[in-house]
Amino acid sequence: MEKSGIIKPVLDANYPMISHGKGIYLYDTDGKRYIDGSSGAVTANIGHGVEEIAGVMEKQAKQIAFVYRSHFTSAPAERLANKLAALAPGDLNWTFFVNSGSEATETALKVAIQYFQEQGIRTKTKIISRWTSYHGITLGALSMSGHALRRERFTALLEDFPAVPAPYCYHCPLNKTYPGCGLACGHELEQAIGDIGSENIAAFIFEPIVGAAGGAVTPPPGYYEKIKEICDRHNILTIADEVMTGMGRTGKMFAVEHWGIEPDIMTLGKGMSAGYTPMAATMVSDRIIDVIRKGSKIVMSGHTFSANPLSAAVCGEVIDYMEKHELVRNAEDQGKKLIAGLKDLQKKYPIIGEVRGKGLLCGLEMVSDAATRVPFSVTHRVGEMFISFCFKNGLVIYPAFGGVTGFEGDSVLISPPLTITSFQIYEMLRILDESMEELMNGLIS
Ligand code: PLP
Repeated sequence: MEKSGIIKPVLDANYPMISHGKGIYLYDTDGKRYIDGSSGAVTANIGHGVEEIAGVMEKQAKQIAFVYRSHFTSAPAERLANKLAALAPGDLNWTFFVNSGSEATETALKVAIQYFQEQGIRTKTKIISRWTSYHGITLGALSMSGHALRRERFTALLEDFPAVPAPYCYHCPLNKTYPGCGLACGHELEQAIGDIGSENIAAFIFEPIVGAAGGAVTPPPGYYEKIKEICDRHNILTIADEVMTGMGRTGKMFAVEHWGIEPDIMTLGKGMSAGYTPMAATMVSDRIIDVIRKGSKIVMSGHTFSANPLSAAVCGEVIDYMEKHELVRNAEDQGKKLIAGLKDLQKKYPIIGEVRGKGLLCGLEMVSDAATRVPFSVTHRVGEMFISFCFKNGLVIYPAFGGVTGFEGDSVLISPPLTITSFQIYEMLRILDESMEELMNGLIS
C-alpha cells in the first residue's frame, strides 16, 4: 500500500492517470480514449485543450496573475463582471467572485441575510430550500442542500433549510399528477412559509433543473412563475443556483430563461470557467446592491483568490469562445438529438424509466418496473453499475442521486461539452446502447 498521496474519492480504488484532452475526448496514460460525456462534473463546457484559453492564460499570467481584491481591481475582472451583467436576466448587474459553487451559494446566503439586516430586519435569517437538491459541500451550502446522503454525517451541525419537496413529477412526493395537481408542490412553499413565518425567511434557493441530487429533474410549466409570485408576496428573495445549469448548459444562457423568471440572486460556477481554472460567482440585483450601498457598503464575504485576474481573464475568454462558436444554440440543437436518441434507448430498455432534461443536461432514471417506477433497491444502484460499464467502454457519465431519506433515487446525468457535434452524439449513443446491453445481461445472469 502507498505511504502517502492524494485522498481519492474512494480510497485505494484505481483511477486511470489522465494524460491529455482534446475537444470532447480524454486520453489516459495507457492510451485509452474516453468521451467526456458528463464534461467532468458538468463543467468542461467548451471541451478540452482549447488553444485560445491556453494563450490567454499565458498572456495574463505573465502580465499579472494575482492581486488581492481589497488592494486592487483589474481589467479582466471588471470586463468579466460587465459581460456577465449584460448576459444575465433582469437587473442582476453586480458580481461577487468566488472560487467554487459552494462558496457562491454560501455568499448568496450571506448577501440575502445582509440585505434585510441593512434595513434593520434582523429576524430574516433562514433560507428555504427543497429536498432533492444540491447547493454545495460547505456547511452553509450543505444546510441548504436537500441531499439526504451528503447531509447524513453532519446533521448535528446543519440548519434544517430543506423545507419543501422538489417538483419531481416522475415520483411526485405528494402522489399527484400534473396538471391535475394544480402545482401542489408550489403550494407546499406557501405552507412552509406559513409554518416558519415569513418574518424569519430571507430567501428561497432552487436549482432551476435539479442536477446531482436527482438527474436533470425538470419542473412542470407554471411552477417557477408560481414560486416567484409566492416569494415576492412574502418579501422573500429568490436565489437561482445556476452553478450547473448556467452558462449555456440547458440551451439557454441561464436556465431560468426557460420560465422567464428573474431571480434576485444567481450563483454560477462550473461552466463559467469551463474547468480551465477554479472560478465561480454570486450575481446580485440592483435593488440589493442599492440597500447595501446605502448601509454598510461592504458585502461580508470574500476569499483570498476572489476576482484574481488570471481566472477572470480565462472566464472572459470562455464566454468569448462560446459566443464565437454559438455554443448555446449548439447545446439546444444537439440536446434535441441526444434526448431523441435516449428516448429510442428507453423503448429498447424498459429499465430506463424516464428520459428528461433540457439542452445538454439530460438525465436517465433507472427503475426495476416502468409501471410502478420502483427503483431496484435503495442501496443497490443500477445507475452506478451502468456508469461503470460506460467507463469501461470509453464513455464518462455522472451519477445523480441523493434525494430524501428512503428515496435517494437512481439516475445518471449525460452532459457532454457544448461543442459536441451530431456525429459525436451518435458515437456517444452507440456506447450507451452497448453498455446498457451489458448491464441488462449482467442483471439477468
Ligand atoms: N450548486 C450546484 C447546483 C451544484 O451542482 C454544485 C456542484 O455540483 C454546487 C453548487 C457546488 O459547487 P462546487 O462543487 O464547485 O463547490
